[in-house]
Amino acid sequence: MSAASEPTTGSIDPPQSTQPPRGKRSKPVFVPFLKTVVPWLSGLFLFAVTITVLDWGFGWNLQVVSRARTVFAAVYVTNLIRYVVAAGGAFLLFYVVLRRIGWVTPIQKKLAAAPDMRREIFYSIASLAVFAGVGVIVYLGKVAGVLQFYYGGNPLTDYYFWFSVVAMILIHDAWFYWSHRLLHTKLLYAKVHRIHHLSHNPTPWAAFAFHPIEAFVQAIILPLAAIVLPMHPLTVVFWMLYMTGMNVFGHLGFELFPHWFLRSRWSRWHNTGVHHNMHHRCVSSNFGLYFNFWDLWFGTNHPDYYAEFERVTAACAKDASDEPN
Ligand SMILES: [Zn+2]
Ligand SMILES: [Zn+2]
Repeated sequence: MSAASEPTTGSIDPPQSTQPPRGKRSKPVFVPFLKTVVPWLSGLFLFAVTITVLDWGFGWNLQVVSRARTVFAAVYVTNLIRYVVAAGGAFLLFYVVLRRIGWVTPIQKKLAAAPDMRREIFYSIASLAVFAGVGVIVYLGKVAGVLQFYYGGNPLTDYYFWFSVVAMILIHDAWFYWSHRLLHTKLLYAKVHRIHHLSHNPTPWAAFAFHPIEAFVQAIILPLAAIVLPMHPLTVVFWMLYMTGMNVFGHLGFELFPHWFLRSRWSRWHNTGVHHNMHHRCVSSNFGLYFNFWDLWFGTNHPDYYAEFERVTAACAKDASDEPN
């Protein structure tokens, strides 16, 4: 892997040398260590308090509490498999195989270094614990009768099922855009969202590399949506498949869509790999997740987005006759 990733424009994190300047003392190592560990210990403490309050709220119903723990473990393991298969598979395919044989060209020339990827994996795996915590909230919400999950029948032949999948994706898209805009306000950026933006040229490992608060904000949309939107468990599975795919794609570092993709009125409304890669490089634009509606409506697309997509995909556009009319 080449040198550590650096932003080309709009940087907020100056490149950091691993060597202290001559004649100056290096900072004590325990300060950054404490800065990392203390928020996590606070998070664990908060989680323990929440579980205790919920235990009390459910009348110390041991069956519910025991199942909540099983749900936590099951959601954590399922999400870990989802992360390793999706992010690991994409990394192996694009970074280890296809790039080496010259079949794909990275969006940015400077690829992430091993320490960048280690940091992305650390925060992503930590986020999975937060997602599992939200899984417990979903379970408890269902037990309490607050969330609208339904079962039975063959959902694939049901029109409402497909409506609920699309509705969940649209709800999450709006939630992501506006919570993301909020995370880019001065205080929240410095305290929370900066963790995700430490990756100036992200890899698939960055798919869930969030500060715990951001991980919670992203996951809590599921129980919030389930208060108003009746959902089959398979709705959640379909939404998660699309969400994981787009998260890995957005952080892949390679563009998958063809040259004509943003020229066609039928496809330009969908976001691309270049779109989110530019967000990591330029920071203050391209906030959307799945679709380009919100960035388009609120003028937050980067002014060079279309030109950058053209540049990145130009090598693949060998035949203009591929383009749709
Ligand atoms: Zn951001
Ligand atoms: Zn990102």
